[in-house]
Order: sequence, then structure tokens, then C-alpha cells
Amino acid sequence: MHVKKPKVFLSWRFPDPGPQLVMEHCETQVWEGQAPIERTQFLSVLADVDGVLVSNATEQLDREAIDAAPRLRCISNFGVGYDNVDVPYATSRRIAVCNTPGVLTETTADHAFALLLAAARRIPEGIIHVKEDRWRGWNPWLLVGREVNGATLGIVGLGAIGTAVARRARGFGMSVLYWSRAPKPHEESETGAVYSSLQFLLQSSDFVCITVALTPETRGLIGAREFALMKPAAILVNVARGPIVDRSALYDALHDGTISGAALDVTDPEPLRGTDLLLTLPNLLIVPHTGSATDRTRSRMSELAARNLTAALCGERPLHIVNPEVLQN
Ligand code: NAP
Repeated sequence: MHVKKPKVFLSWRFPDPGPQLVMEHCETQVWEGQAPIERTQFLSVLADVDGVLVSNATEQLDREAIDAAPRLRCISNFGVGYDNVDVPYATSRRIAVCNTPGVLTETTADHAFALLLAAARRIPEGIIHVKEDRWRGWNPWLLVGREVNGATLGIVGLGAIGTAVARRARGFGMSVLYWSRAPKPHEESETGAVYSSLQFLLQSSDFVCITVALTPETRGLIGAREFALMKPAAILVNVARGPIVDRSALYDALHDGTISGAALDVTDPEPLRGTDLLLTLPNLLIVPHTGSATDRTRSRMSELAARNLTAALCGERPLHIVNPEVLQN
């Protein structure tokens, strides 16, 4: 008997091997554009599919999108964050929401540390200084930055990535404070990180690294009040999600010298336009959401997202599902 394959949509030509794996099990439509699919076009594609493999950075699966997809049974995110999905609404429709934790943890922690070091040691300014032919020899005041070894790092959200950042900090001889919703004894003994209130962490840290998920509770978690608690010499690093930090409070804190610098992989909104006021700040370093962007990690994310999608559509348990309650009969 001929069994009809599920119909799916891939919102990018994701790296190998994901697309090939999906094509083995599903009738597959791939968005081949160099830019994200337009929202109206995305909504019309959704009318006719059983599953989607999307980027959590470019496709919003909110109530409107889910309502546009009467047959949808699986949203497979290419990424670990799932703030792009209305999970309670998807769950009410018995749609499986899947993500790719683990495979990008170390890579994103590397990126956080790269940003921390770049901001502390003023690497981007140094590169521009040389390229613009302003280098007139050594002098004792040239591009003096902040000491990393021996400094205190505060980690906001000791999840998988936060813990991997803490391990790296230990290798750099840093003291580590962390704030999470509850103490984490196992991670403490592995990394030497010390549990703290958010207030004490902000007051005591030379570097503050945001690795918490974006949720209704963490949106705007770092605002004017929190910047005022931080040391004037402190540097903020954000590799989680832009809206966790209030953007106008961030601008003021950097502009007025409430803190000394920031390094962001994620912004609010994304992408930032070239005319954005944040880009006028000399003490702000921004890269375009490339936390997991290495060849090996992107390939592992692709494979995991594809396996999650095909499992959910073929009646098997996905490797990583955010709302496992939809699997119950
Ligand atoms: P994870 O292991 O699930 O950790 C999630 C963290 O968020 C935990 O610390 C958790 O708190 C916290 N959290 C979740 N819900 C919360 C709430 N309602 N209130 C307060 N805290 C809450 O995830 P992960 O793999 O470490 O990833 C963390 C985040 O990094 C992702 O959600 C994603 O947004 C971001 N990310 C960014 C990139 C990038 O390219 N820049 C790459 C990967 C991930 P507890 O510690 O209290 O459990």
C-alpha cells in the first residue's frame, strides 16, 4: 500500500545533513532565498504542511501563524531557544515543539568568552587602529583594557551554556558568581561557581554574562535599576536574547558611563539597522547573532532538528521536545 509522506517546509536551505534526512521521510519544500521568507508568504505556506523546520531567529510561530496551519503537527526549531514559538498555544493544538539543546552549548560558550575577551582587551578597536594607519608605535596608554584573570564573572542563568561559560572562566583564573531560580549544587561543584542574589551579582561582578532564556519573566530583566547596581568598570556580555536587556537603559548606561562597556551577540530588534543609535557608542561591540556559527555545530544542529521533525511526524518520540505532554494519548 502506498503511504502518503508528510508534507514539510524548511525555512532555509539548512546545512547538511538535515535537508537530506528530512527528504528521505517527507515531501519537502525548501525556502531557497538568501533572506528570510516574507511573513505573508510564510503564512500561506503553513496552510498546507504537517511540519516545519525553522530558525528560531527568523520565523515567529505565534498564534496567528499556528492558526494559519490547520494540519501542523511539529515545529522543529533550528536552535535551542524557543521564544519564537507560542508554546502553550502549540500545546493546546497538540503540536510538538522541538529544539536542539546540547550540540551548541560549547560553541556558544566559546563565543561568549570571545566577546568577553574582545571587549575587555579592546581587540576590535585595536584592529581598526592598525587598519586606519593610526599606529605610531608603542605607548603606555594605548588601548588599555580590563584585566580578565583574577576578575569576578557574574553569570545570569546557569543553564547548559552558563555552566560551560563558568568552566571556561575557571581556566582564566576568574571568580564566578551565578544567579538562577534555585541553587545548582552539581554545577557548583563542577565549576566552583557561587550562588548569589541577582543584586549581589550585579554589584560584585567585573563582567556580567547573560545566558538565561527569554521568557515573560526574563524580558527586561536588566534595566536602568540593574545597570545602576553594576560597577562603573563593568562589562556586560549578552549571548542569550536581546530583549532580556532593556535597550534604552543599555544605551543610557553606556552613554553616561554607568558601566564601561558591552559586547552583544543578540540585540533588540534583530537585525539592527545601520542607523541605530546603539551603533554610535564606541564602548559597544556587536556581532550578528553568530553564537552557534561554526561548521561542525551548524551541521549537528541541522541533523538534530531534522531527526526531531521526522520522529514527531512518523509517530516516534523526538530526541528533544519542549512540550512532551503532547505525546500522551
Ligand atoms: P538551558 O540549559 O535550558 O538554560 C536555560 C536558562 O534559562 C537556565 O539558566 C534557566 O534557569 C533559565 N530560565 C528558563 N526559564 C526561566 C524563567 N522563567 N525565569 C528565569 N530563568 C529562566 O538553555 P541553554 O542551552 O543554556 O541556552 C540558554 C539560552 O541561550 C537559550 O534560551 C537561547 O535563547 C540562548 N542561545 C543563544 C545562542 C546564540 O546564538 N547567541 C545560541 C544558543 C542559545 P535556571 O538556571 O533557573 O534553571
